[in-house]
Amino acid sequence: MNISPHPPDQSSNPDTFATFPSLARIRKLNEILAEIAPDLVSSEPTIAYPEEVLATTAENREKEPEVKAVIGDPFVRPDHGPWWLSDRIVANRRYAGSYLRDAASSRTRELPYTAFQQLFTLGNRIEKCRETFLVLQHIEERHHIPLLAECNSRWCPVCAVIKSLRRARKVAAKIETLVLEGLITHAVFTVPNCPVGELLDTRRRLTRAFRRLFGGCGGQSEPIPPMEKVRGYIWSLEITWSETRHDWHPHIHALLETPYLDQAQASEAWELAAGTQGFRSSSWHVFLQRVRTDESAEAALEISKYISKPILRTSENSDAWVEAIVALHRCHQSDSGGTLSITREKKNNMATYEVVGSARRWLQKNEHTRASSSFLSRLLKDPLLGRIAAGTFDPWDLAPLIKPDR
Ligand SMILES: [Zn+2]
Repeated sequence: MNISPHPPDQSSNPDTFATFPSLARIRKLNEILAEIAPDLVSSEPTIAYPEEVLATTAENREKEPEVKAVIGDPFVRPDHGPWWLSDRIVANRRYAGSYLRDAASSRTRELPYTAFQQLFTLGNRIEKCRETFLVLQHIEERHHIPLLAECNSRWCPVCAVIKSLRRARKVAAKIETLVLEGLITHAVFTVPNCPVGELLDTRRRLTRAFRRLFGGCGGQSEPIPPMEKVRGYIWSLEITWSETRHDWHPHIHALLETPYLDQAQASEAWELAAGTQGFRSSSWHVFLQRVRTDESAEAALEISKYISKPILRTSENSDAWVEAIVALHRCHQSDSGGTLSITREKKNNMATYEVVGSARRWLQKNEHTRASSSFLSRLLKDPLLGRIAAGTFDPWDLAPLIKPDR
């Protein structure tokens, strides 16, 4: 049996962060954050972490930090991860998960079964996000490596940030040179606030109205003037909840590539487009602002946020949470077109591996085998995965009893 000694090192490619969130990749993420939102980094001390834990995965493999302590003393249960991971980020994510599950459980009678199931499963996934492992098997070499399961949900406090940053980086790259030429305009298209219970319908009509501006889905009609001057666009749907008025404020942020747009004409066009979807208001005002040369990172982040103003997780707000999640289910919250078109991510970096199943079950089935020993030693040698494993598994289960093949 040919077993390669280490899992593939993907740290040079930051896009694989989601697959293997090693410290090196988290550092990369932090660098990106520093580029696109320096304020966030400087005002967020929990993001910084000591330089000594930043050794690359390869360096850490040789040193095997912490792992010996875990195996050596099975009665001391180590914490769930490095301090910056285990403190409020983890607490926040777990609370978010249980909050959604409770919101579902307390509405078993009033919610349609599909909505109940959606919320309950989502809560479970968020609560366990990045805490359980799957086993991947290399298609040709047959060795096994751990994969940290992530929920990848826009409602997960951890995944939402990572998804937003990933998108912000792509947007920033797309608009960078155009911003320097003064060709990017930030626009906000709003419709009147909608009351509780009407978010799903309003969200659908708002998106249709916005698409109508540029000629409708698939371009079946002409753009509404002056929108024919827009050569490309990136947009995202934002939904904010007013804590004081208890209503929804759905709106669309867009970055438009255009040499010039007249505000009055743009507002008239929006009134027309919104009118086709039944929106009525006494004032239609489209916010337009040229993105300045030093603002492209900020603009990219603005357009890439998944939840602009998170709804507070209070007992009074649980109706709002339920409505927002159901209303945004399976909906593209962002899109792009024309010269600013961003291609969707293809997840093909796992092509050489196939998923075998959950690590817990697989380890039970393959107890004391060479395969499970190799798997465990790979798991424990990764500084981050090892710590998470130490917090989720029983220490005895983690001790590889057979020396893995070299
Ligand atoms: Zn998640």
